[in-house]
Amino acid sequence: MSESSKENAPKAEKMAKAQKLVGVKGMNDILPPESARWEWLEAQVRDLMARYAYRNVRLPIVEPTALFVRGLGEVTDIVEKEMYSFEDRLNGEQLTLRPEGTAGLVRAVVEHNLLYEGGKRLYYMGPMFRHERPQRGRYRQFHQIGAEVLGFGGAEVDAELILLANDLWKVLGLKDVRLELNSLGQPAERQAHRAALIAHLEKHSDVLDEEAKRRLHSNPLRILDTKNPAMQSVVEAAPRLLDFLGEASLAHFNAVKAILDANGVAYSINPRLVRGMDYYNLTVFEFITTRLGSQGTICGGGRYDYLIEQIGGKPSPAVGWALGVERVLELIKEQGEALPDLAPDVYAIIPEAAALPVAMQVLQALRAQGVSAQMHAGSGEGMGSMKSQFKKADASGARFALVFGAEELAQGRVAVKSLRDGEGAQRTESLSTVADWGHSLQSTL
Ligand code: ATP
Ligand code: MG
Repeated sequence: MSESSKENAPKAEKMAKAQKLVGVKGMNDILPPESARWEWLEAQVRDLMARYAYRNVRLPIVEPTALFVRGLGEVTDIVEKEMYSFEDRLNGEQLTLRPEGTAGLVRAVVEHNLLYEGGKRLYYMGPMFRHERPQRGRYRQFHQIGAEVLGFGGAEVDAELILLANDLWKVLGLKDVRLELNSLGQPAERQAHRAALIAHLEKHSDVLDEEAKRRLHSNPLRILDTKNPAMQSVVEAAPRLLDFLGEASLAHFNAVKAILDANGVAYSINPRLVRGMDYYNLTVFEFITTRLGSQGTICGGGRYDYLIEQIGGKPSPAVGWALGVERVLELIKEQGEALPDLAPDVYAIIPEAAALPVAMQVLQALRAQGVSAQMHAGSGEGMGSMKSQFKKADASGARFALVFGAEELAQGRVAVKSLRDGEGAQRTESLSTVADWGHSLQSTL
């Protein structure tokens, strides 16, 4: 035996069963029929974004680690403990799977000088990665859809983004979503508030948890964001940043509110809403539902006028939001919405493999007319009885079965059987006109 024929010879002994591999914890497979909801949601988003004249961007999933450390802030949940960071084995670069989309988008905007001709309205969709404890509504790979407006400093774009999100909830049929609004003012105002806040928190240092103590002097504002119930009363009594805002910041906040009022968008002011990233200023907001427990924030955003220069670009204002796709879809499920209909229009029943070439020609003609057609695939297993083929046709949910029987084919025809009305009326259609029949179906399906 030559070496190569030895390799090709079947192994005599039974192959050991390969060990089953499973996916990474907190990272989900999205499979049919559930994936149909995703496609539906994405289509709604694309349509609505087009109506607001927002343009799509597609950005890398891996970015230099320094982008997030600089952009999000060192003392944030994400940078402190949630990033998937690694060293590129080939060139030693420090890289991170993106935990959010804004920093990368700003990096791209600066790198490609996109604001050269004026402001931009952009959106993205895609996976994000955070090493968190997996639970309902909180995963390690999850998906965000984000909308960002760069190059405009006025309150009207803050309001436009909120109107856009609000319209999206309407299009998706979401119920019980409320809007919380706050203003983080400008850095100097935050500085004044910070001193008062630290003094207040120091007075109550006995109830502060470890994380709060650690952040007391590095990022005290974030302590207001705590979910620790033991700290709620201290946090509620803390000095309000809103009370430290100057005239310009208040005017901006009031302008946003006036536009929302005029458009009938309800909101409540939450003076303790601070958001997870350091880059925000002025307007911040969250859309929250009570239906998803503690993972009820479906969308968050705000203004980030200083991020672009922090990442090395020419100073330029910006504002945006990101929604969590899994949470939005869970809310849709929670509301009991049915899955989008995946049934094909027709199912082709093929009694004998000899009919496959003609049958597949007909199916191609139907698909060209926009008809969705599923073919019985079984020649590798002996096609199967008519009864089992009809069972599969029923299970597919198709409205019609096309039966490519030898007798009809000999006359240049195919049998058409309605699967959805009880009596199952059957007739035949000429092979030369069946595509026209398919076309006429479009108005009745
Ligand atoms: P949370 O307070 O729930 O941790 P966050 O402030 O970290 O949220 P953002 O960074 O503002 O969240 O992200 C925007 C949205 O993305 C959130 O409102 C949420 O809907 C979604 N999101 C964030 N982290 C996750 C995750 N680990 N799994 C699923 N969705 C997430
Ligand atoms: Mg978080």
